[in-house]
Amino acid sequence: MKRSPPPVTASTVNWTRSQPPLLRFLHTCYANFVTEAAGAVADYIPELGKADPAHFGISLATLDGHVYEVGDTRVPFTIQSMSKPFVFALALDTLGAERVESVIGVEPSGDPFNSIRLNADNHPFNAMVNAGAIACSGLLHVDKGDGAFDYIRHALGRFAGRELDVDEAVYASESATGDRNRAIGYLLRTNSVITENVPAVLDVYFRQCAILVTARDTAVMAATLANRGINPLTGEQVVTPYAIARTLSVMTSSGMYDFAGEWIYRVGIPAKSGVGGGILAALPARLGLGSYSPKLDKHGNSVRGIKVCETLSAHYDLHMLNRSDDARHSIIADYNIGKNPSRRVRRPQEQEILAKHFQEVRVIELVGTLSLSNVDYVSRRLAGSPRPEFVIFDLRRVTATTRAGARLVAEAFQELAELASP
Ligand code: GLN
Repeated sequence: MKRSPPPVTASTVNWTRSQPPLLRFLHTCYANFVTEAAGAVADYIPELGKADPAHFGISLATLDGHVYEVGDTRVPFTIQSMSKPFVFALALDTLGAERVESVIGVEPSGDPFNSIRLNADNHPFNAMVNAGAIACSGLLHVDKGDGAFDYIRHALGRFAGRELDVDEAVYASESATGDRNRAIGYLLRTNSVITENVPAVLDVYFRQCAILVTARDTAVMAATLANRGINPLTGEQVVTPYAIARTLSVMTSSGMYDFAGEWIYRVGIPAKSGVGGGILAALPARLGLGSYSPKLDKHGNSVRGIKVCETLSAHYDLHMLNRSDDARHSIIADYNIGKNPSRRVRRPQEQEILAKHFQEVRVIELVGTLSLSNVDYVSRRLAGSPRPEFVIFDLRRVTATTRAGARLVAEAFQELAELASP
């Protein structure tokens, strides 16, 4: 007997309740990894040991300003080392790149985050390890004095799109026990990286590490990094594209400490972790991810957070170096007006011009993003045939222009103008 399919009712296909696939995927990640029990909550800062190991939140922010959230995405936790990229970016913009780059390196150290080791110039290896981050706080302290911490807190809030508070108990706990960081502070002062009051600088650093965020906040902060410094929720340009590109560079090489090489090899997304249990990952021009789960591996990276990032990258093929693009798709039409008379009704004056020049007008219709490769391809197409008197670039379907694309267009126009002038 032929069975008829079950009737499609509102409950079997309910489009209003359907989920975007990305959200479904995050739910699957949550379900798959919530049972993962490996790792240990950090307790070298005693107050951190009180975190609930069951907490697990995953949030993904898109660059058009949507935020997906699964699990405990509104549970506050301390930002810890995830503050480092933002404070580095802030220092680059506030003090100038030259000043910052003259005392903080950009080489991976291959050491744990709390290593008491400087590079051959007696400078911190990079701003992602404690030595570099304490140096950054020191530089900002020279410039902002007692206002340095509030300056940092306010800036991190602009990355998150909301005002951020401090966990006073975690701050006090780290301040009471942070002798290793004090040792780093004094080492930096004997090498003139910090030029003033070490306890005041460490106070800024401990407070900045105790800033409270949620997985949702860190996704938005990561998305701001992925969006050349523009917060996709507020539209605010928080720091310059220069600071963003340099920050993402050191996140790529050093964001995950002595796991950084493995991380960029396998996951391929610039990221930063914190001993509070957060990981943020920023895929340029695509998305920001924030996860929270307090159990850490031996490198100090959240165990579940790493799994989420690895799975997301593998499932959607997000490795930043695994990209391709076909520049030829940017041209959707290329014709001489004379050969393709438009059916549009034109005014007599327009008809007159067209009648006179119809053989000499070439129209190139472009679509999508004007990038280096796309504009280069178009310019070669132009150069490859006899040059018409007029060239019309129809850019109505162009949605974005990269800097390289804009520069090449300007150079192409300049060349056309030079050839056109007698
Ligand atoms: N405040 C912590 C420390 O300095 C930050 C370390 C981290 O998150 N990896 O030890």
